[in-house]
Amino acid sequence: MVGEKTEWESPLYQMVVRQFNKAVERMKLDPGIVERLRYPQRSLIVTFPVKMDNGQVEIFEGYRVQHTLSMPTKGGIRYHQEVTLGEITALAMLMTWKCALIGLPFSGAKGGVRCNPEQLSMAELERLTRRYTAEITSMIGPDSDIPAPDISTNEQVMAWMMDTYSQQKGHAVPEVVTGKPVSIGGSLGRYEATGRGVVYVITEAAKLLGMNLNGARAVIQGFGNVGSITAKQLAKMGCKVIAVSDIKGGLYNPKGLDVKDLINYVKQNQFLKGYPQAEPITHEELFELPCDILVPAALSNQITEKNALKINCRLLAEGADGPSTLEADQILRDKGVLILPDILCNAGGVIVSYFEWVQDLQNYFWTLKQINNRLRRILTRAFRNVYERSHREKTNMRMAALMIGIGRVVEAKRVRGLYP
Ligand code: GLU
Repeated sequence: MVGEKTEWESPLYQMVVRQFNKAVERMKLDPGIVERLRYPQRSLIVTFPVKMDNGQVEIFEGYRVQHTLSMPTKGGIRYHQEVTLGEITALAMLMTWKCALIGLPFSGAKGGVRCNPEQLSMAELERLTRRYTAEITSMIGPDSDIPAPDISTNEQVMAWMMDTYSQQKGHAVPEVVTGKPVSIGGSLGRYEATGRGVVYVITEAAKLLGMNLNGARAVIQGFGNVGSITAKQLAKMGCKVIAVSDIKGGLYNPKGLDVKDLINYVKQNQFLKGYPQAEPITHEELFELPCDILVPAALSNQITEKNALKINCRLLAEGADGPSTLEADQILRDKGVLILPDILCNAGGVIVSYFEWVQDLQNYFWTLKQINNRLRRILTRAFRNVYERSHREKTNMRMAALMIGIGRVVEAKRVRGLYP
């Protein structure tokens, strides 16, 4: 029997389970299957040594969690100081609902290494990635579990993972990871996919609200892959991106920031700090700015009962995984904010990852136009399904999205039956 105190306990896990409980409360599902889905099916904890540039050896802790194995699993690899088994488990669970909601042939997984990537040199990052990959090789594979980028991992990290895995197999296996460089079987448009997807979902929501994106004020927390591309795409649509932030702080310009210029500035200076055409602001101030669209695109647990009351937007588009707590959700909804939940809003990344995997398996590559059109079609359909379900069940978009995702996973489990 699974005890009350489990190894994967964490605040994020608790939040994800509470969301899950709330969603299943109103569905008539097999209780045995529902109970099973509260827990991770398979988890691997590894510790491994990495030789640092100063000649000393440091030991790191890494994880790979497969939430449920009714389908091959899929999900990113995160490098961050706060990575724990509990956090990775929660994120793997969210990946399950995300893939099912979108209709991808995957269940959820997630992995990560607890480290401070800012303090690692390129050489250290490569050694850490290669050794971590070697340690989780038994768990991953092109038809079992396919990693991808997440916070602080990128195309280069995926290339090292692909190379390490391929060295062990004795031949190139590009389809073992997605989010690779195009030169080794990556997909066009994968780098931009999550941010692009966020904007496709915002576009559908704006239609619903009768909001004109041209001139709409947007605020974005986070300026990594998701935040920067979302900002760029929103600016392209005519939005005024009035504030952005990264771990060191935020920038504000009521006339709108020049996002392309900012991206170039960050390429040269690593952080937003010091950018001349804007005022510096704190993270707290950023969340309180009156705006039309607010996009949390950084870590989880950013919008809580502490700051939700001060948030002043019409649309909250969750680029990050788990950025808002259930309490914050309620406060914002009471204020009339439309929340586009993470598993819908940030699904663009895993959708194009799926495209990449399919292209690798077929050795037949698509054009950028085909990729973006298919991405848009899938996300628009998912948005409409979620909206219709929320309307039908008289519930909010998050619950509707979870109900669709969970319902599909439960059906897959039901039809496969129980072994033995
Ligand atoms: N890390 C991204 C996510 O959480 C992408 C996962 C993938 O592409 O497999 O959705």
